[in-house]
Amino acid sequence: MFYGPHDVRWEARPDPELDDDRAALVRPVAVATCDIDVAALRGGYPLAGPYPLGHEGVARVVAVGAGVSGVRVGQLVVVPFQISCGTCPNCLRGRTGNCAAHPPLSTYGLGQMGGLGWGGLFADLVRVPHADAMLVALPEGSDPVALASASDNIPDGWRAVGPQLAAEPGAEVLVLGGQPASIGLYAAGLAVTLGAQRVHYVDSDAGRLDIARALGAEAANVAVDELPRKVGAFPIVVDASGTERGLRCALNSVAFDGTCTSTFVYLEDPSLPMFSMYSRCCTLHTGRVHARPAIPRVLEAVARGFDPGLVTSAIVAWDDLADALRDPPMKLVAIRPG
Ligand SMILES: [Zn+2]
Ligand SMILES: [Zn+2]
Repeated sequence: MFYGPHDVRWEARPDPELDDDRAALVRPVAVATCDIDVAALRGGYPLAGPYPLGHEGVARVVAVGAGVSGVRVGQLVVVPFQISCGTCPNCLRGRTGNCAAHPPLSTYGLGQMGGLGWGGLFADLVRVPHADAMLVALPEGSDPVALASASDNIPDGWRAVGPQLAAEPGAEVLVLGGQPASIGLYAAGLAVTLGAQRVHYVDSDAGRLDIARALGAEAANVAVDELPRKVGAFPIVVDASGTERGLRCALNSVAFDGTCTSTFVYLEDPSLPMFSMYSRCCTLHTGRVHARPAIPRVLEAVARGFDPGLVTSAIVAWDDLADALRDPPMKLVAIRPG
């Protein structure tokens, strides 16, 4: 349970029940912090506790309802952070983050914002209401620890470069990184694997710059408050900077007819360079990732050599989790046998 910044506690709760033919019960075995979790735990994002924490993880299927045919007991699966039914008009169009069968923003582990009824993945047992629609089986031989963020942050990185590179193979990609931090790195690594001619990653954190290089990107050390008006002209740009200056630099660095995807949750309204964007036919996309349809694409990229494990900061045993979460690193993964 997240109670507030630096305050995480285990609490006993009744086991969830298999109360629907379409549902499954799963036991999380590798659960990661999301960038928002880390911000909230460090006191930098206003989520009010108490709420069940955790919405990124790989789990083992423990029980399935009579109507479930896509996954079986014993399988390792990615659990998408968003609750989606798979059959409403939004889900059928791949917009699973806006599933019409449940209240808006229904997710695991995000407190009032996601609805408190779904629980969190830092738990012994989790109920998945639409097992066939939601769960994605891990390919044989996959590393569940490296894939713990395949529920949310890795698909979030994918949606910022994957469809764009499919439309414009080999295009150059610019990623402006910053706090919170992992999504920009996943985007950079995925862009390398998906064939971008060059991937430029800009940040001022030495650790993140090293990870970007390990992922195959060219990394440039520029402090956020020293970012110039623009750093070039790129067909595909990702703003993961978390600052107005970074966002403006990202938008001014979009080439003619290019796109910028901003993965950051801006709580204030930054001013945008609208005339410059208009002049270049610049597309800006922001919003939550529709995670479920992106997860198989992430697994394909992993099979082609993308290693999300390079982004993981620390791996802790389940019993040490509450202590580790009080002062979390960028990307913490808690593991247990299961
Ligand atoms: Zn998240
Ligand atoms: Zn739906």
